[in-house]
Amino acid sequence: MYIQKVSLTGYRNLKDTTLFLKNGVNIFYGENAQGKTNFLESLYLCASGRSLRTKNDSQLIKFEATESHIQVLIQKPKTNDRIDIHLKKEGKKGIAVNGIPLKKLGELFGTCHAVIFSPEDLNLIKEGPVARRRFMDMEICQMNLVYYYDLQKYYRILKQRNHLLKEIQKKPSLKETLFLWDEQLADAAERIIATRSDFLDKLNQISSKKQNELTGGKDALKILYKPNSPKNQLQQKLKKNQQRDILLGTTQAGPHKDDILFLVNNKDVKLYGSQGQQRTTALATKLAEITLIEQETGQKPILLLDDVLSELDKNRQNFLMESIGELQTILTCTGIEDSIKEYVKQACLFCVQNGAITPS
Ligand code: ATP
Ligand code: MG
Repeated sequence: MYIQKVSLTGYRNLKDTTLFLKNGVNIFYGENAQGKTNFLESLYLCASGRSLRTKNDSQLIKFEATESHIQVLIQKPKTNDRIDIHLKKEGKKGIAVNGIPLKKLGELFGTCHAVIFSPEDLNLIKEGPVARRRFMDMEICQMNLVYYYDLQKYYRILKQRNHLLKEIQKKPSLKETLFLWDEQLADAAERIIATRSDFLDKLNQISSKKQNELTGGKDALKILYKPNSPKNQLQQKLKKNQQRDILLGTTQAGPHKDDILFLVNNKDVKLYGSQGQQRTTALATKLAEITLIEQETGQKPILLLDDVLSELDKNRQNFLMESIGELQTILTCTGIEDSIKEYVKQACLFCVQNGAITPS
């Protein structure tokens, strides 16, 4: 699949525009603070329904505007799809696919698969577990709509349980009803744990091959799921933690505390790896994600590379550019680096200056 056409009005600092993209490499270059990441963000919004940078959609609207409209046309082997997103300063965003308004965000998933790769992703290993859970959830949601609904259900129950914990602090007799939420929470958790475990198994197989290629066989990568509460043990754990949960007013155990473990040569790379090894591991994981999406959905995702080449050394730059293969790639950079030069001849170039995007 590839994005053929993009139209933007009232989006961040970008001037209203309509652009035609190539089914190949598209390079958006320009100095800092000109609007490059804003452009990629608008495309990612169409794929996932969410911005990478904010939960507050009104921030996406141009300062002086009251609404914004993003439209993309996606070419697929057998069909074409049009996604329209309307953002309003006041009120919820509206999303339509082929002119039909969606009732739920989940209905958008699968229309456009995109993988975004930015310098922050290279810190996937270094950062806290929140970033790794987010990575896992965003990726699984793109491939598995049921998981998205399971996750929503889990967080709904968790919120209700946390609310009850706080109520119990004021009225201890309410404690008798807690087991009802424990049961429901454990039930929703089981499905999440099973899906995450399956996803990470598959990701592990692919990323270990990528790591092997990236390091010439020097580093062996293993990705392991680290559930906070292993299969079928959450209900017991909730019971055990009950007093502490009530005291703190929040639930201490469950998939909302899960993590991923990255082992390089059998050692936790977060604790023992060099910065280079941590970044290579993140790169191998990200590249594996592309292969996995293709494997699971039968569709080639669109690759969004936000200024990531400048963060990598020559070897890794070349490996990344060679991995692109036949994917539509939309890449931002401040200058045309050596590793891009050989692609420039076949690429579409766009200059981004002060919010204006001009094909060049
Ligand atoms: P860099 O190379 O530093 O990453 P960039 O070209 O990727 O730069 P962007 O992140 O796209 O830059 O941001 C460009 C500008 O957009 C910023 O200077 C910011 O002030 C501006 N901006 C952000 N949100 C809005 C908005 N809602 N309305 C108008 N301008 C905005
Ligand atoms: Mg940027």
